[in-house]
Amino acid sequence: MNDSLNIIAHEQAVTAANYDPLPVVLTEARGVWATDVDGKRYLDMMSAYSAVSLGHGHPRILKAMSEQAARLAVTSRAYHTDVLGPFLAKLVALTGLDVALPMNTGAEAVETAIKAARRWGYRRKGIAVDQAEILVAENNFHGRTTAIVGFSSDASYREGFGPFPGGFKRVPFGDAEAMTRAVTDRTCAVLVEPIQGEAGIVLPPEGYLKDLRTLCDKRNLLLLLDEVQSGLGRTGRWFAHQHEEIRPDGLILGKALGGGVYPVSALVGTRDLMEVFGPGSHGSTFGGNPLAARIGLEALAVIEDEGLVQRSAELGAYLLERLRAMRSNVVVDVRGRGLWVGVEIDPSAASARSLCDNLLREGVLSKDTHGTVLRFAPPLTITRDEIDWAMERIEKVFAQLPDPHASHAQVSPAQASHAQA
Ligand SMILES: *Cc1c(COP(=O)(O)O)cnc(C)c1O
Repeated sequence: MNDSLNIIAHEQAVTAANYDPLPVVLTEARGVWATDVDGKRYLDMMSAYSAVSLGHGHPRILKAMSEQAARLAVTSRAYHTDVLGPFLAKLVALTGLDVALPMNTGAEAVETAIKAARRWGYRRKGIAVDQAEILVAENNFHGRTTAIVGFSSDASYREGFGPFPGGFKRVPFGDAEAMTRAVTDRTCAVLVEPIQGEAGIVLPPEGYLKDLRTLCDKRNLLLLLDEVQSGLGRTGRWFAHQHEEIRPDGLILGKALGGGVYPVSALVGTRDLMEVFGPGSHGSTFGGNPLAARIGLEALAVIEDEGLVQRSAELGAYLLERLRAMRSNVVVDVRGRGLWVGVEIDPSAASARSLCDNLLREGVLSKDTHGTVLRFAPPLTITRDEIDWAMERIEKVFAQLPDPHASHAQVSPAQASHAQA
């Protein structure tokens, strides 16, 4: 333990404090299990915000990665390579879209979508120069560049970082009517997450995406979906928008696309949208490099070959059911889709962060969002037995909390669930 405290202190001394990590020092991981420097094992119920959807150190990913790294890793896009085409062909086929532009991080792919949408607005809709506007959702999360945090509703993301570029308008999430009212002649696109992850795994009302699709068709707008976190099986479909059987004009992917080992992102879109890019209009030194392409291709193949999308649907339903059955008095809501579940905590009873600390002690890695929601998003390779293992610990941690509705603490979980029933 002293060892890890020393390591943490040393890290903090030289690291900008833009994160507040849980007090654990991880040193290795395989599959859904991670080990700290003291040899203690943890079940990863967070999977790096979906970046590790395939589990840690997937053997096929490691093999593809090391083979490709030894053969040809980084070339820049000044040259063709023999892996970029196969990777993007697979991506295009899976999404039902036409053309992809590879980048590295999620935020870069969002920036790419913003550029594409604006240029499309000027060229295809004749919007006046520099007047294009993109409608976004309240409580959105699309990354951390200055343009993106500029349209965030979270003050802590924005404070002190202005001036921000204009051209964005925020509209309440889940309200298609409000989105309709916000459209003007300057609007070129609607950009939303199909399920808001960082906001606390917030599901819109059923039919929302369909309504947005109809709105965009009617008013000639682009529907841009940020599926950096919700995509690639996380919600029990390949892409969250498939729950409503719609097709976006632009689809933003990242996180799991890198197989848990490397940043790989992309904007995938219709030919009509992606045609706005010509040589020189956009780029990235590392975007689409052979190593990234090979890893991305292998990640997609692993998800397909191992049936991880179906697995996410089935085990996600099980996890949701188990968490709902917990009936703790401090839980305000349990919601989610696939292996992506948020447990909202009554903030007067406990902080989600302190629950994360307690879970950590029991050997479960989780992370709160906005202090009130516990997030469970394990690798899609998790087994039912491992979910049971986690649930035992989760139930124990919740059972230890005092009942917020009892004037005297120490209500047993059985009494607590009775009281709520
Ligand atoms: C994580 C995330 C991003 C940003 O991805 P980075 O790789 O951190 O830049 C964008 N959109 C959504 C929905 C995300 O969850």
